[in-house]
Amino acid sequence: MRVYLDNNATTIVDPIVKDAMEPFHSQMYGNPNSLHSFGMEVRPYLKQAVDKLYDGINARDKDDIIVTSCATESINWVIKGIYFDKILNKDKNHIITTEVEHPAVIAACKFLESLGVKVTYLPVNQDGFVDASTVENFISDETALVSIMWANNETGAIFPIKEIAQICRDRGVLFHTDGVQAIGKIPVDVVDMGVDFMTFSAHKFHGPKGVGGLYIRDGLELTSLFHGGEHMGGKRSGTLNVTGIIGMGEAMRLAKESLNYEGTEIRRLRDKLEDTILELPDTFVVGQRDKRTPNTILVSVKGVEGEAMLWDLNKAGVAASTGSACASEDLEANPIIIAIGSDSELAHTAIRLSLSRFTTEEEIDYTIKIFKDSCLRLRDISSSYAN
Ligand SMILES: *Cc1c(COP(=O)(O)O)cnc(C)c1O
Repeated sequence: MRVYLDNNATTIVDPIVKDAMEPFHSQMYGNPNSLHSFGMEVRPYLKQAVDKLYDGINARDKDDIIVTSCATESINWVIKGIYFDKILNKDKNHIITTEVEHPAVIAACKFLESLGVKVTYLPVNQDGFVDASTVENFISDETALVSIMWANNETGAIFPIKEIAQICRDRGVLFHTDGVQAIGKIPVDVVDMGVDFMTFSAHKFHGPKGVGGLYIRDGLELTSLFHGGEHMGGKRSGTLNVTGIIGMGEAMRLAKESLNYEGTEIRRLRDKLEDTILELPDTFVVGQRDKRTPNTILVSVKGVEGEAMLWDLNKAGVAASTGSACASEDLEANPIIIAIGSDSELAHTAIRLSLSRFTTEEEIDYTIKIFKDSCLRLRDISSSYAN
């Protein structure tokens, strides 16, 4: 049996999404900007797909949703765009973010630091949370942007986005949220939350890889990073990724439709797995359950190297993660987990299990057995764990 529990890294493309994309590879392959039938016949489908994006995040007609190549691009665009618009040759010089953001946010901020921008990286508590009042305390007249993720990819921690957005609005500071881990897992309503910018990536919600989006609230401008043709209203040039847009639209529609299932059935399977893991002695899970996305568990198994456990699980066909996929090839501990851990124990013993709506009860039951066996075996040979 092979069980995929690394859905926070990427997800399977829903077969419905795959089918929706298919005709645009081989039959309707025209460039939608062309003035002939091959191009023009594609346009209504593109519009439908983009409409599904607006519906999925509850954006208003006047807001912008711009399709990009991935969340990494969208994030870089917001952070560097703000640099051009609000910082370079202007009176602002400060960005606030957290220590537990995705590397796209952290690395873009580090780059701006090299250009002289001041960046505050807010710490999180032991549950992996940051509260809104902490954000408020660090806002000054110099602050141009606050960038805080909606939900964390390692722990599933859901941040108080509405409160933070309100504080930013009151203080005249722009607010960006990395919404990648929120879409399809919890309700996402950009208007109700009051965010200025939100980024997302299709392959994290059963869409194709290589396509993402940026939501920009009505009335806001952001300097383009890609100059070229008139694509996306001249805001993001480059021939449109038609199949990607069609796929992302359909994936968004299904993500919204599946929210209830995710919040009940997937949560039940997650809780079942979590409960049995917690029955093992000396294990703990980061963050309160009701403050996490319903699909995620970050567990620490005392005395067991995360890497060793990962290989053990993998041998039995269970795919998990010790940290973000981007950090998993080197053996350095994941910075997000270091930021949470009060000591280095967590950083070395953490295992992330992330489910999706394609996860079955049978798979969870199998994982429970494999996880227990592996824990016992590895503790047996562990020099740091007294059995
Ligand atoms: C995966 C991920 C990203 C980056 O998405 P890409 O598709 O790799 O660009 C950004 N933020 C979070 C929270 C993620 O989980």
